[in-house]
Amino acid sequence: MTDTPETPTPGALPLTTLRPVAPAAATRPLVTPISPSVVYCTADADAMDAVYEGSLPPGEAGYTYSREGHPNATALAGRIDAMEGLDPAAGGGTVTGSGMAAVAAVLLGLLEAGDHVVASDQLYGRTARMMTRELPRLGIETTLVDATDGDAVAAAMRPQTRLIVVEVVANPTIRIADMNRIAALAAAHPRALLVVDNTFTTPLGFPAFARGADVVLHSVTKLLAGHSDAMLGWVAARDPVLNTALREAAETWGLTPSPFDCWLAERGLTSFALRHERATANAAALAERLAGARGVVRVLYPGRADHPDHNRAQAVLQGRWGNMVSFVLEGGRAEVNAFLQAARAIPFAPTLGDVSTTLSHPASSSHRALSEEARLALGIPEGFIRMSVGIDDAAAVGEVLAAAAESIAA
Ligand code: PLP
Repeated sequence: MTDTPETPTPGALPLTTLRPVAPAAATRPLVTPISPSVVYCTADADAMDAVYEGSLPPGEAGYTYSREGHPNATALAGRIDAMEGLDPAAGGGTVTGSGMAAVAAVLLGLLEAGDHVVASDQLYGRTARMMTRELPRLGIETTLVDATDGDAVAAAMRPQTRLIVVEVVANPTIRIADMNRIAALAAAHPRALLVVDNTFTTPLGFPAFARGADVVLHSVTKLLAGHSDAMLGWVAARDPVLNTALREAAETWGLTPSPFDCWLAERGLTSFALRHERATANAAALAERLAGARGVVRVLYPGRADHPDHNRAQAVLQGRWGNMVSFVLEGGRAEVNAFLQAARAIPFAPTLGDVSTTLSHPASSSHRALSEEARLALGIPEGFIRMSVGIDDAAAVGEVLAAAAESIAA
């Protein structure tokens, strides 16, 4: 009797044979491949040790479990590290699942009970909420200050101050923080770190590490990714020890991002410089157009001489005014609604950094939790509109906006 080899049925195969390893190739893809794998295999326990210990040969990356890192996060982080001028000796930035996850990594990774935080009183709403509602539960106190006033920041500092948290350009008032003074205060303090949320300004508008930031973070969701289809953050510290603390906080608290979102953002970044240049030029043109339109009582754009912080903006932004323009319409909610209806060709959406120009109304969205008095104290009346300028045709957008503003004036 001869042995007839049995043909294995596919269902009986070990599943791993249905998951072949990519063959060695003489070519490599031009575009970063998407790596959705959650887990990674190693040849043996020693190889696994080397990955965990970070003792791989130079230039070799190793992964174990995608919450702790994956190739798409590494690729994206590398690009943003380079844009922010992060010294490679710091060990590379961390990509997180959202901008808020980057904020959380800073607070959870760098603070402990008893620490004190000085923060701008015009931070993104959820960041402010994290400080005023979440941090007290962990025994950390925050003092909110007007970051355009260096003396106020100085007065708020305490020996226990560990972080000073600022956004260079405030949302939505487009006020400019006193960055030079604040950086000097952080440098002179024995333990305070300057944390800059560079989302609005971007690395092209404000080279944060070069201007004294110890920690820089982004909502990559916004201008960097640029297409409103990926939710991500990035954070890095110049000091390698702090940088490791940020990365470990992100891994432990599960703040890590999806490979597909990283892939989308990496793709978006390839056009970032072009988009930024075009959006900035469009913003200057639209600010000018709106300033001449009936129905508009005020335009806020740092490049304009009538901006309250124009002189400081020249020192801080050095001509890179950015893509954000705010303006105040005549009247109240009824006029705002009529304006938005008339300008419906421009998306009314509470976000920023999209390829399209978008409009938002802080009184009914980002600042809706504030009392009218508190909102007015920040300079945000009902007629206040924030505009994130995109790469669309500025002349056409300007016509829509001016016609809509003039329709309410009439
Ligand atoms: N920082 C700033 C300045 C923001 O505008 C935002 C969101 O709008 C965030 C942080 C939070 O980012 P994300 O929405 O990606 O969580």
